[in-house]
Amino acid sequence: MRLQLLPSLIGGEGRAQLLSSYLIGERICIDAGSIGFQADLDQQLAVRHIFITHSHSDHVASLPTFLDAHFGVGADSETPVTIYATETTAASLRQDLLNDRHWPDFIRLSDESGKDLMRLQVIEAGTPVQVEGVRITAVPVDHIVETVAYIVEDDSSACAIITDTGPTDEIWQRCHDVAGLTTVVLESAFPSRLQWLADVSKHLTPTTFQTERAKAPHPDQLQLLAVHLKANQYDEIVEELIALSLPGVEVMEPGREYQV
Ligand SMILES: [Zn+2]
Ligand SMILES: [Zn+2]
Repeated sequence: MRLQLLPSLIGGEGRAQLLSSYLIGERICIDAGSIGFQADLDQQLAVRHIFITHSHSDHVASLPTFLDAHFGVGADSETPVTIYATETTAASLRQDLLNDRHWPDFIRLSDESGKDLMRLQVIEAGTPVQVEGVRITAVPVDHIVETVAYIVEDDSSACAIITDTGPTDEIWQRCHDVAGLTTVVLESAFPSRLQWLADVSKHLTPTTFQTERAKAPHPDQLQLLAVHLKANQYDEIVEELIALSLPGVEVMEPGREYQV
């Protein structure tokens, strides 16, 4: 599978990980933090399935403009654009984002027009969803709102995308049962000197990144991509991660395509 953390900054340059959107191949995206801000409209329009981890703004900020780009042109497509979220997160998207005040409720407009342009599909944690030849399973993690990680599998390989969370267990237990797991995308939001802030906001630092990594199956054989590094402490977090000398760990570069 091909995996890319989309750039956060308009124009696509820069290493900053301000927003969260992970493109899998061309048609699936995990989170809508930046997909709807990409200058390449064809890239946006190719995406037909968006799986949301949770309702925080850095993970859904560009959902309104993404849906706007699709509304209308979607009429030419055989498959409606589908947004997948747990019941709590789906309710937040309807109440807080697509509420006609913040942005038009495209889901309702799609239903009322009878054109089936886009759907909001509620998913259950632990129940795999099959799309585009890929199996995607939501697993609860431990963040300050209801949040899931996603395990993404095809016939030959698998990866886990774990953002955002504090120390957590269920996703790692699940990873032990995933055949062909090659890659884990894992957050490391704050430097270790701000462990208190990571703890109250339920994020990780390099210190807890390391203890979480130790819960993974065969951690020394995994590709471990660190994400969600706060932009204003980026260098400090990178230095800490490098100092840990953990095999297979690197900071994920926005705009680079990874084989997973
Ligand atoms: Zn969050
Ligand atoms: Zn976040």
